[in-house]
Amino acid sequence: MNTLIFATNNKNKVIEIRSLLPDNFTIKSLSEAGINIDIPEPFETLEENAIEKAEVIFKLTGTAGFAEDTGLEVDALNGEPGVRSARYAGNERSFENNIDKLHKNLNRIKDRSARFRTVICLREMKKHNIFEGECKGSICSERHGSSGFGYDPIFVPDGSSKTFAQMSLSEKNFFSHRKKAMDKLIAFLKRNEKA
Ligand code: IMP
Repeated sequence: MNTLIFATNNKNKVIEIRSLLPDNFTIKSLSEAGINIDIPEPFETLEENAIEKAEVIFKLTGTAGFAEDTGLEVDALNGEPGVRSARYAGNERSFENNIDKLHKNLNRIKDRSARFRTVICLREMKKHNIFEGECKGSICSERHGSSGFGYDPIFVPDGSSKTFAQMSLSEKNFFSHRKKAMDKLIAFLKRNEKA
């Protein structure tokens, strides 16, 4: 069994990533690996934040692991909240307040197009590799559904009439940014296993 540390404390992300892993791969979240830290995301790009989180874990454990950073990029807001998606509402940040702020900033704006973007950094012994996934869609003005997390209640992926929060996990995985990035990571790990 190949075990990787996944540098997150976000239980929702752990559930999503576990649902995507083939049988011979397993992950440990930070708390499951006995690492009780909250790694900051200080940079201006998803990629830099993912690299930073993966490096911190590698330095701490000396074993291979990966980290991801995800942002919701709204066209009419010039890509905001983007890398600041988690802290969009500032000190009052919460899933609810972040959505409220996004709705306020999109008030009266007709163009609702947006995308989720995930960047994964896999840190192995000598190098790191980056894998990206994107899901295009639109922001709806009311919340719908109760599954998932974050901005899921207001994001409708292109090709569906439901928000992510109205979908089962396997339905979300059909469209998801995280799934697309994970597919690339898994293909890479499988190639390395054979080599
Ligand atoms: P981070 O990658 O943990 O920094 O997450 C950025 C922000 O986007 C957080 O507020 C998350 O809740 C939100 N987020 C990340 N992934 C998703 C997703 O798949 N659906 C909805 N919101 C997400």
